[in-house]
Amino acid sequence: MPKQSALPALTIIVPCYNEEAVLSISVPAFRALIDRLKSAGKISGESHLLFVDDGSKDGTWSSIERFAQDHGDVRGLKLTRNRGHQNAVLAGMMEAEGDLLVTIDADLQDDHNAIEGMIDIVADAGAQIVYGVRNSRDADKVFKRVTAEGFYRLLQKLGVEVVFNHADFRLLTRSAVESLRNFEEVNLFLRGMIPMLGYKTAIVEYARGERVAGESKYPLLKMLSLAWEGVTSLSIRPLRVITSVGAAVAIMAFAGALISIGQWLAGVTVSGWASLIVAVSMLGGMQLLAIGMVGEYVGKMYLEVKQRPRYIIEQSVP
Ligand code: UDP
Ligand code: MG
Repeated sequence: MPKQSALPALTIIVPCYNEEAVLSISVPAFRALIDRLKSAGKISGESHLLFVDDGSKDGTWSSIERFAQDHGDVRGLKLTRNRGHQNAVLAGMMEAEGDLLVTIDADLQDDHNAIEGMIDIVADAGAQIVYGVRNSRDADKVFKRVTAEGFYRLLQKLGVEVVFNHADFRLLTRSAVESLRNFEEVNLFLRGMIPMLGYKTAIVEYARGERVAGESKYPLLKMLSLAWEGVTSLSIRPLRVITSVGAAVAIMAFAGALISIGQWLAGVTVSGWASLIVAVSMLGGMQLLAIGMVGEYVGKMYLEVKQRPRYIIEQSVP
């Protein structure tokens, strides 16, 4: 008999917010992939799907329940309310069983067939974290492409280590997930936190497609708020920028005062008050901005100090 090395159990974690329309297409697609990988001898029989219902208002949960009843490889978790994509992904990773945990969007925009390549890299190269990286943004509208790529560059400039064009489609091994458990922050920006884990990492490229059904659950406002979270939860450089700007303005003001004294001594008086008003209101505006920026971080600390749960599970199936 050939020697049987233990195959890893794969869990595919899928956050879902109002994805009723999508599930009937994506569940069969994900299941087919699991079947194929099982027959190829790459993953064990316990491999399964784990859907996390992020407080959906449509029939998402009942449809997850139905799929779980009909198929042994479908499981589900229901959060008590909508906590947002990052929290739903985290809930899935913290609760999932299995040796290899992949997180992927419900709408099949991420190419689930890239998961096979991720598993191969773990087996062949011993990577513990494999990032799905989209190989082009041609499918995106110009606005989305420019803002998204600008955002990754900004984060890198601010000293946040992020993988360019990687979102939340990735594989973590059991050891990586257990290490992530020690990060107890409530201000979540997973794609900035996971590179902090260390470990051997790898990248798998894939082409990102269109959403198969339904609408994006990431309107502009949510995208901006995620970007803001990314900047302020992982970098304190904006505070330093403020300090430098403040110092520069103070030096200019001091020089201005010296010049005025000199002019006064020389008997030259300045008539215009407009320039004065401009200077005063500019300084006022900058001070408010600076206080707001500091307040942003104080607010973040307030949330962290409370240590509220990042998600609450109401129900699970089977
Ligand atoms: N999602 C979620 N909670 C939310 C918003 C989105 O769990 O509050 C899920 C959503 O169901 C999907 C994934 O996050 O599986 C990505 O969302 P979407 O496809 O709408 O984002 P986009 O691809 O348009 O950026
Ligand atoms: Mg999508």
